[in-house]
Amino acid sequence: MTNNIVYIGLGSNIEQPYVQIKNAINALDGLPGTTVIADSGYYKSRPMGPKDQPDYINAVVKIETALEAKDLLTRCQQIEHRQGRVRSRRWGERSIDIDVLLFADQQIKTDKLTVPHPGISQRDFVYLPLLKLDPAIAIPGKMALKDLLHYDEDLVKDESKSDYGCQYAGDIDR
Ligand code: ATP
Ligand code: CA
Ligand code: CA
Repeated sequence: MTNNIVYIGLGSNIEQPYVQIKNAINALDGLPGTTVIADSGYYKSRPMGPKDQPDYINAVVKIETALEAKDLLTRCQQIEHRQGRVRSRRWGERSIDIDVLLFADQQIKTDKLTVPHPGISQRDFVYLPLLKLDPAIAIPGKMALKDLLHYDEDLVKDESKSDYGCQYAGDIDR
């Protein structure tokens, strides 16, 4: 069985976000054949989508797993469910959101799963913690993430290009 290196993004803005993130990371570490290798620490950012919701706490973790991508997604959704995730409005408040950002060098596009996650280079609360874990990280099918950000900045002067004021907010004591 091959083990793959995977990056997971986490976010929470209700019901004790710092605790939600920490609990979800520990739950990931408890999945079969899976170990959390490193975490980015906590980051804080303004909400994407509806503005009438609390600020977010985010983190990215690097894991090693024997699970296949689709099974890992199912497991992530089970953790979300156990931590009280309720789907209301798009990009609305949530106790925990767990996204598969990168799965080894795989590129996946199915009804349920798109990898690499399409939001990586548009969301500072994703790319800042990801680059902290691995400054040289590459997006399969594209280029080094840090180059992709320059590329986006130069070519797409887009108001929607994200700046959610993402800032480091402390170590995760897990
Ligand atoms: P976004 O995906 O833009 O960050 P979101 O996280 O709020 O938005 P959700 O409501 O959590 O969206 O998930 C919607 C669907 O996204 C899920 O049911 C899942 O099947 C699908 N999905 C596709 N690709 C991924 C991925 N890489 N990681 C997690 N979910 C994914
Ligand atoms: Ca998300
Ligand atoms: Ca999600």
